[in-house]
Amino acid sequence: MADSLLSDAAQPLERALKHTSISEDAIESLKFPKASLTVSIPVRMDNGSLKMFQGYRVRYDDTRGPGKGGVRYHPNVSLDEVQSLAFWMTFKCAALSLPFGGAKGGITVNPKALSRLELERLSRGYIDAIADFIGPDVDILAPDVYTNSMIMGWMMDQYSIIKRQISPGVVTGKPITMGGSLGRDAATARGAFFAIETILPKFDRVPQSTTVAVQGFGNAGATLAELLHRSGYKVVAVSDSQGGIYSKNGLDIPSIRQVKDATRGIKAVYCDSSVCSIADHQVLTNAELLTLDVDVLIPAALEKQITEANAKDINAKLIFEVANGPITSTADLILEQRGIYVFPDILINAGGVTVSYFEWVQNRNGMYWTLSEVNQSLQRKMIEETEQVWAIAHNLSVSMRTAAYIHALNRLGEAIDAKGTRA
Ligand code: GLU
Repeated sequence: MADSLLSDAAQPLERALKHTSISEDAIESLKFPKASLTVSIPVRMDNGSLKMFQGYRVRYDDTRGPGKGGVRYHPNVSLDEVQSLAFWMTFKCAALSLPFGGAKGGITVNPKALSRLELERLSRGYIDAIADFIGPDVDILAPDVYTNSMIMGWMMDQYSIIKRQISPGVVTGKPITMGGSLGRDAATARGAFFAIETILPKFDRVPQSTTVAVQGFGNAGATLAELLHRSGYKVVAVSDSQGGIYSKNGLDIPSIRQVKDATRGIKAVYCDSSVCSIADHQVLTNAELLTLDVDVLIPAALEKQITEANAKDINAKLIFEVANGPITSTADLILEQRGIYVFPDILINAGGVTVSYFEWVQNRNGMYWTLSEVNQSLQRKMIEETEQVWAIAHNLSVSMRTAAYIHALNRLGEAIDAKGTRA
């Protein structure tokens, strides 16, 4: 696993270990994923042909509770990527003190090229293939990149058909009518927003004079851009996989969101390939967005966006990772040396899995919460854990990433030691 994404993902762990008294046993047991499953999923396409898809489910660790993590549909999904994402979920759930281990799933597919029925057959086929590996007390699924509540609904239904009992607790992020939680859709963004609002005052920053660039306009990026815009921050740039737009005076995020929802592309209405129809607006590439001179940069797309190659060109002062793993470990060190503050994924984007936990709790006791109960509980949790990570970073003079890993490792180590071993 020399050059794998997983070995790169494990680097912060190495740095954090020095600052914990975690046992050798616990360190050893966190070295590899507990179980990795690769499946081939047959799908009958609309034209009658049969197509095979590769799918994965990885449980990295389940000492603190059932595995928990989303399912990603993307052409670049690989076992290495899913293992890394499961690793991050393990530390994310521990950092937020959720009673879950870490897991992740994925299918190597371009979902935009499938019809709705093909997508449904693929999603149900995935559950057929992994049903024995998951369960409400074993490993719980959720949305991730290019999956959504509709797909979670199909997955929960398919699992319930196989088990011959309604099993809402096997999947979170479901449609509300199937036992989903209010507030789950916006939870990743809202959680990040609460963390940002906790941290920025520590840098004497107020919304009106804070410029923000957001890379990625999916569920998390678009919702967060809108929350920030509504609270008075100047969101000057946003992008999707095709590229983005920039205005030094700030963008009108709600109308960009409408365009995106209607056309699937940010540039589609405002701009052709290089020219925008609105004065002050410019087209820019994803690479250009990352190097903008802004106060706050928010990578909210995919992993490995800031690497050794562009870390020296980053001009933002603060970076909040809403994507999982957007900064490589080498880039992370370069940014630290340059005095750029990075607030890590396992803390910043943990709002999604936190409300997934609330959804799972609601499914299990059959009592459903109001939106304000969900949002208030999320706010309390995000502020509490962000403050604790901040205090560790301050007391030990370490980066926020190292502090978040120390915070998570302390909880994980305690659980691993408490359980003991049969060895
Ligand atoms: N996919 C999200 C993440 O990476 C949410 C996972 C979940 O809710 O289980 O955190």
